[in-house]
Amino acid sequence: MDTSTIPVSTPLPRPDSVPVHGARRRVVVTGGAGFLGSHLCEALLRRGDEVVCVDDLSTGRRENLDGFFADPAFTFVQADVSEAFVIDGAVDAVAHLASPASPPDYHRLPLETLAVGSRGTENALKLAVAHRARFVLASTSEVYGDPLVHPQTEDYWGNVNSVGPRSVYDEAKRFAEALASAYARTESADVGIVRIFNTYGPRMRPEDGRVVSSFVVQALNGDPLTIYGDGSQTRSFCYVDDLVAGLMAMLDSTEAGPVNLGNPHERTVRELADLVLTITRSVSPIDHQPLPVDDPTRRKPDITRAGAALGWVPQVDAEDGLRRTVAWFAARPQAVALAGSVLAGPQTAELPAPPRGEPARAS
Ligand code: NAD
Ligand code: UDP
Repeated sequence: MDTSTIPVSTPLPRPDSVPVHGARRRVVVTGGAGFLGSHLCEALLRRGDEVVCVDDLSTGRRENLDGFFADPAFTFVQADVSEAFVIDGAVDAVAHLASPASPPDYHRLPLETLAVGSRGTENALKLAVAHRARFVLASTSEVYGDPLVHPQTEDYWGNVNSVGPRSVYDEAKRFAEALASAYARTESADVGIVRIFNTYGPRMRPEDGRVVSSFVVQALNGDPLTIYGDGSQTRSFCYVDDLVAGLMAMLDSTEAGPVNLGNPHERTVRELADLVLTITRSVSPIDHQPLPVDDPTRRKPDITRAGAALGWVPQVDAEDGLRRTVAWFAARPQAVALAGSVLAGPQTAELPAPPRGEPARAS
């Protein structure tokens, strides 16, 4: 275990007044060097909290934290949370985001994904219990699998293939939810579960293979946009700032959840491709690839509970969010060019789906 901490010197701009939620807190963010985690660290620092980011950099990047190292309120601990790890000092809240999240990442890291959902979640829970700290689990819409209820409400139990290639992620998160719920019952842990639906924005790894970053990279490079299947499958895309506002609201509340966090505007993958082409003014063609095994047919959150329990409603529409995302990627032409060649290699399309209705085989 490497518990190296990085020294800090120049602070981020701090609020003059007391943070809106009351007192300054010390928040541990596992997976804080990742896409969502780095935005959460930034939002917590901006409102005046202290942040301890714990990350093994397996799918996250040190550069996501570049803006925070100079802040004395920020500490980075490089560690695998599936192994024992030590956090010195007070802990008021733990946001447990550590986990591969992109399908190509969890296909590449199946055992690590199961480990961080199980052992990693238990280690993070034990840390929270030891400090009587609030614990928020970043779960996922994947717990609903290929849903038979639409839109997905939190009381829907899901339709998950427990032995298919996606199961390493879906079942790890389902286990993590069960574990967190058991700690709430047996240890009186202050647990909150959020189920995050597809979220996008700046700091996504350009080559990580998720649909928004892939389409943006391909469009900017003039490469074909790889649509898996016929593109009629749907997703509901949430801009990262909205999602982080929901995570903060959950950290500040005593709500147990599970609570869906996502933008309920549903669109097909084909519609997303067309929107990206319009925003980037790209003339890239469409390249249809086989649909991956167990790729959910449709996905849309019912966010009634998030509105009632947290007062949370997403604010950023897809056109605005995608413009901000495209601008961020366009400002990094070298990384985008490099990612283009990675995306042109084998991705999840290596795992073609059986015809619907037939059981999928584990790969
Ligand atoms: P990401 O891959 O960018 O970030 C995950 C971070 O966790 C990375 O920095 C990675 O290095 C770190 N990590 C992984 N295993 C670890 C371990 N064993 N120990 C320490 N650190 C580890 O992914 P993301 O999109 O930022 O997702 C963050 C969380 O939100 C994940 O738990 C994911 O399941 C959940 N989530 C994200 C989305 C989304 O659309 N972005 C949707 C649903 C759920
Ligand atoms: N997808 C696609 N082309 C890509 C990447 C993904 O058509 O280059 C599809 C994928 O098959 C899925 C949707 O886009 O139907 C969302 O995929 P992503 O990996 O972003 O997230 P998921 O919701 O599957 O976890």
